[in-house]
Amino acid sequence: MSDRKQFYVTTPIYYVNERPHLGHAYTTVAADAFARYWRKVLGDENVFFLTGTDEHGAKVAAAAEKAGRAPQQFTDEVAAQYVETWQLLNISYDTFFRTTDPRHRKVVQDLLQKIYDAGLIYKGTYKGTYCIGCEKYLSPEEIVDGHCVLHPTTQLVEQEEENYFFKLSELAPRVLDALERGEYRVIPEGRRAEIVGKMQSGIEDISISRQGVTWGIPVPWDESHTTYVWVDALINYYSATQFEDSLNRFWPADLHIMAKDILWFHALIWEALLMAAGLPLPETVLAHGFFTVDGQKMSKSIGNVIDPVQMVEEYGADSFRYLLLTAFAFGNDGDLSLARFREKYNADLANGIGNLVSRVANLAEKAELEGSAGSMPQAFSPDVASAMESFKPDEALRAIWEIVAELDRSIHDEEPWKLRGEELREALSRYIVKLGEVAVNVGPFMPALSQAIEAVFFSGPIRKPDPLFLRK
Ligand SMILES: [Zn+2]
Repeated sequence: MSDRKQFYVTTPIYYVNERPHLGHAYTTVAADAFARYWRKVLGDENVFFLTGTDEHGAKVAAAAEKAGRAPQQFTDEVAAQYVETWQLLNISYDTFFRTTDPRHRKVVQDLLQKIYDAGLIYKGTYKGTYCIGCEKYLSPEEIVDGHCVLHPTTQLVEQEEENYFFKLSELAPRVLDALERGEYRVIPEGRRAEIVGKMQSGIEDISISRQGVTWGIPVPWDESHTTYVWVDALINYYSATQFEDSLNRFWPADLHIMAKDILWFHALIWEALLMAAGLPLPETVLAHGFFTVDGQKMSKSIGNVIDPVQMVEEYGADSFRYLLLTAFAFGNDGDLSLARFREKYNADLANGIGNLVSRVANLAEKAELEGSAGSMPQAFSPDVASAMESFKPDEALRAIWEIVAELDRSIHDEEPWKLRGEELREALSRYIVKLGEVAVNVGPFMPALSQAIEAVFFSGPIRKPDPLFLRK
């Protein structure tokens, strides 16, 4: 179906000023599903899945100070929380990238030096309103009533400083041209249109260094400056492929996934930096939406914050992954609700696939059916493959649950508990083939469920297992 030989997928590297939250989990679970899908299609060695943490900048230094830690110690602790959360969520990353890795410093410096040598970086004075929450100077439309729209309680600072500037104004038309020629793409379409509109509206040069921020990577030709944290962070995607010869072949990335608020950095600035350094562009930049909880923005003061770790404790990793990715169409904005999570868990998992596995296993056990070891299907269904290859995990899951519903109907119509002998065996064999289909297709999303179905029906005598999903 696809002519890919390898697949390199990234999440953003998350900023360590906060603990892993639901938004991070959503992005990372989706990336994990794509990585697992392509591993099955292309082989483990041909997939590279990167996540990690973004650890430099004034905001991190300030958070460390507030926590009474040295910056490195502070970032070590927060990075460990991410690693732990991703273990709980069964995230199969190949590299957990940290921007404080000394190997990264060299890659960043070499790349910036190249751009500097190409005449695309110059020294200038920057004057503007800076939000330490965003780690950037704000444009007028980002300031409402004297405050940052994203950080209404953070004091804004008027700053003037000597910075190195990147000639984004010169690169932007070339990047736009590359986008329009299809050299890389931005999806979904609506967000691509926004990016194109913004690119056409006139782009200014951007500052890529800071003076007086010591927690960062020194600019190679002027060590009194450190690299702007966003530039340092973006380069991680390339940097990770430079640490070992065996990884070189993965650049350019096939898929960068992120939430829509940081699409601009990933859909223009990143491509401009790569172009300036003479490096190939990524294939696809995919921005997913934001979500509300019960119609409201998630916030501590409203008390509707959903903690991914608590969700895993409540539902288990597999189920939580399912509930997240089926909540709304990937790419769109959507709404989550704990009540709907519970309903869906009971309907689709406990009473759905869980019950189905139990009933079929129970009948097979009574009929003394042998598990047909080795006959687990290996290929994805066409619907699932096509959804995954167009980066629509929610559609893939819907297609899988159609197999479940169809099997449920067959059992209801055929009433196998009334059958005996060869008739019963024949019916059960058909059901088990279907369950095998579910197992292979669901693997990228719910790896434990996939393995459980395989263990029950495809390895030795079939026994009714303990319930896979307890009703809530
Ligand atoms: Zn801000």
